[in-house]
Amino acid sequence: MISACRVCDSNELELAIDLGQQPWCNHFLKESELGREPFYPLRVVYCHACSTAQLDYTVPKEVMFGDHTYLSGVTRSLSAHFRGVAETTLADYFAGRDAASISVLDIGSNDGTQLKHFQALGCRVLGVEPSKATAALANAAGVPTLQRYFNAELARELDQRFQIVNAAGVFFHLEELHSAADGIGLVLAEDGVFVVQFLYMKSIADNLAFDQIYHEHLLYYNLRTIEVLLNRHGMALFDAYLSPIHGGSMIASVAHAGRRPASARLEQLRRAEDDSGANALATYRELARRMALMKETNLAYLRRCKDEGKVVFGMGAPVKGNTMLNYFGVGTQYIDVLVEKNPLRDGLYSPGMHIPVVMEDALAAPPDVYYVLAWNFKREILANNQHLLARGVEFYFPVNPKEA
Ligand SMILES: [Zn+2]
Repeated sequence: MISACRVCDSNELELAIDLGQQPWCNHFLKESELGREPFYPLRVVYCHACSTAQLDYTVPKEVMFGDHTYLSGVTRSLSAHFRGVAETTLADYFAGRDAASISVLDIGSNDGTQLKHFQALGCRVLGVEPSKATAALANAAGVPTLQRYFNAELARELDQRFQIVNAAGVFFHLEELHSAADGIGLVLAEDGVFVVQFLYMKSIADNLAFDQIYHEHLLYYNLRTIEVLLNRHGMALFDAYLSPIHGGSMIASVAHAGRRPASARLEQLRRAEDDSGANALATYRELARRMALMKETNLAYLRRCKDEGKVVFGMGAPVKGNTMLNYFGVGTQYIDVLVEKNPLRDGLYSPGMHIPVVMEDALAAPPDVYYVLAWNFKREILANNQHLLARGVEFYFPVNPKEA
């Protein structure tokens, strides 16, 4: 349990959202592990000094990152997103530069999906990924990847500067936050750009995307709050834009302090944040209140399905889906199976609620209702399932973001 803010060390923390005791949601269970998974408190606290929302409990990082089964290459729209990030970063900040002169470091590089796009554009790349199986996949696919945790120590070992440092979310899972931020300052070239993608807390609150709250995400940033962290480590935001990915992500660009002027769109986003009260405790309290209402609505719907004798399958077995299933208390009493594409989860069970995961291509027949846990891919899912919609299969989206 932390007693001081992870970002600014203040002791003025206040409980904002309580999701109860939850298992570590990234570890889908083998049959032999059912009922043996540990549960940890899942609570968001608010720092009155710097306004950063954060979890007050840290699952040990060896548990969190040793063997995760999230593969960024699996979903097509994510891959398109990664390509866009690579193209935009080069075009916006390194226009006219020979790509071969640009080296890219990706922190938490997963299966190398992001780096493949930089490679295709001609850049030299290096990934850092703590998960052994995932790092091996990246290396096998030709993306040089170190199986390590990124921190200041590794940055000093690398003894190399990169024009582009990328971190898609993973950096903000890191327990060693200040060491990692120091490390980025060390490896970032003088004119370099650190592109950081993070779940945007304002979007989470606006879209009720509370399933993004799980143990792996220790921090829930807005622009104003991430700036507190960056400034502490000699860096500054100079640009940012919103992406609908993961139900609302900010893609922010960071340079050494004083190196690049703030863009107009960054100023505009900062103003929108200030005007909306996104950094006020009341916003988090309101989210907690609406989450309780969503729980009632979802349970009422699923009960009605049962009463009408409908067969309900979960669509997708995303990690974040476990936050929702556990918070709602939805298990096999409502949902028979979770239908997934990621082969690493084949034959496993969802942590906490123990719903079996089956592969999409192994299904004998579709259900009456798909309860869509991967709700952030709504457009892609509806487009890919026209044949099922035509047969009368119902698609229920437990979360309906404004921006989709
Ligand atoms: Zn703080």
